[in-house]
Amino acid sequence: FNAGIDAGGTLIKFAVNRNGTYEFRKFPASQMDKAVSWVNARLDGADINLTGGRSANFGSLLGKPHRLVPEFDATCQGIRYLLSEEGISEDSFILCNVGTGTSIHHVKKDQYTRVGGTGVGGGTIMGLSYLLTGMQHYEEIVESAKRGKRDNVDLTVGHIYEGSVPPIAAELTASNFGHPNLGNSPAKKEDLLASVIGMVGETVSTASVLAAAEARVSRVVYIGSSFVQNEVLRDVVAGYTKFRGAEAVYLPNGEFSGAIGAARWS
Ligand code: ADP
Repeated sequence: FNAGIDAGGTLIKFAVNRNGTYEFRKFPASQMDKAVSWVNARLDGADINLTGGRSANFGSLLGKPHRLVPEFDATCQGIRYLLSEEGISEDSFILCNVGTGTSIHHVKKDQYTRVGGTGVGGGTIMGLSYLLTGMQHYEEIVESAKRGKRDNVDLTVGHIYEGSVPPIAAELTASNFGHPNLGNSPAKKEDLLASVIGMVGETVSTASVLAAAEARVSRVVYIGSSFVQNEVLRDVVAGYTKFRGAEAVYLPNGEFSGAIGAARWS
């Protein structure tokens, strides 16, 4: 059997393939020793392939033979597998990976080109949420954000054009965290969290739809652990991508693309 391990900036993802079915698992990158112990206890006899920014570090702690696979090759390979599992045949699409940071690729048949990225990503959700509310736990942040309202934090086009007809959709954000009342009345924690996630979602989807237009493709596949249990992010990203004439695709287990691609590497 074989195993792919994607050691990222925030999370270490595992995809273990026994008899053609994958078992998935993740550990915080801050607990690399635990992840290594898990491998040593559970993956005896496996072919192990490592990918991700921390793979060399992980490999040096692992007392087992392994291979290193380039991160973007692994991710693209994993995506192809997940798309085929979903019955989606797509030759050319934009892949937007919202991990700790965000990277955007144009995948075309067996080739891919990195078209850009932004430092605004899942790490931004964690960092700004902590600075604004003191919350540090991912689940607590995304659950609280679901109860939040952005109206009192973000300034919309409609707010500015109040009483007249705006030249673009009134519900679009004109200025993230730009609401004039923000300084007067303290915003609720959940409202701030919804706005942090909204800003990240609008940034990654804006960059992705521009990349889609440039590449003349209509689908953007969004992956990365930032979407896990995070309906606020999914809704903002899907909504804005659709508004700009493209289609957002979310794949089950998409955050394990790198680990799956590493496991399938030959
Ligand atoms: P990387 O490969 O850079 O570690 P991921 O695709 O794993 O990136 O995404 C990391 C992001 O996922 C975090 O910044 C955070 O927003 C989100 N996330 C999801 N689940 C967790 C979790 N249990 N702990 C911390 N962050 C999480």
